[in-house]
Amino acid sequence: MLALRKLLVCLALGVSSLPLLAGCTAEMGDEDDDEHEEEPVGETSDELRSAVSCKERTDTAYKSGAPYSIQVIHIGGKPVSKATGHAFLRMQAAAHDAGVRLSLTSGFRTMAEQRYLYNCYQTKRCNNGNLAARPGYSNHQNGLALDLSTSSWLSRNASRFGFVRTVPKEPWHYEFRGKDPGGPCSRGATTTVPGDEEARDDGPLPNPINGKIKWVAPSQDATLKNGFTVKSRAYASNIAKVVYSQGTFVFGESTDKDDDFALAYTFKYMGDKTLTVAAYDASDALVSRDNVDFVLQP
Ligand SMILES: [Zn+2]
Repeated sequence: MLALRKLLVCLALGVSSLPLLAGCTAEMGDEDDDEHEEEPVGETSDELRSAVSCKERTDTAYKSGAPYSIQVIHIGGKPVSKATGHAFLRMQAAAHDAGVRLSLTSGFRTMAEQRYLYNCYQTKRCNNGNLAARPGYSNHQNGLALDLSTSSWLSRNASRFGFVRTVPKEPWHYEFRGKDPGGPCSRGATTTVPGDEEARDDGPLPNPINGKIKWVAPSQDATLKNGFTVKSRAYASNIAKVVYSQGTFVFGESTDKDDDFALAYTFKYMGDKTLTVAAYDASDALVSRDNVDFVLQP
């Protein structure tokens, strides 16, 4: 009940409520590397897992000073962008399964919050005078940055869920680099955003059709280093083009049938991957497709 009460309080006050910032952290933006955030104090997984609010609010995010609009949900009472929040929840569930507590300390920040922190930094009268990025330039204002409870599990597994550490001196600061993986706020009349379905990554396409295209490389269940060439062989003469994808993310296509449609590619994240190759004829009609699973290691 504690978490729920906290959530309700947060929702009632709204995130522009400055007292909530007492536990918030400050940091520098992209152009500053002398960053100083306080290491977060974690909550338990159980508290967080019970406190997801899909009631969305449209808010204004900033990247390099430029505004754009994002949808914000609440996890453990903390505002986060929906895509980042869903990715966090998946990671948290995996951590939980591994017996590791993973908590969210700070997520999305509004312009008002960043102005407050920046003012504290300048005046040294609040937030311990911690260094803060110029308003509009904090990585917490673009909906991608999260401050998390640290653990060796997190450092080993975050990349599997699309999270990368971006500030060397801050082991708790992660940024999401991926598409919305879907989650509790994906569906339902009060939570669905038009176009959200297109943005979701529901994983690979259903398994092979026809057998007229087959993976050559990587081989099934292989373990690979990053940066390699994918290949697939056509077993039908009408195949004019193949498209390689991971979920809804298309990473390339090839028309070079003589070279097994070879395509060199370097993935952004390590981890378990399922790729799909889809073959099309000259009129762009789907002819065949095939999936392959492999593990990408640093
Ligand atoms: Zn941070």
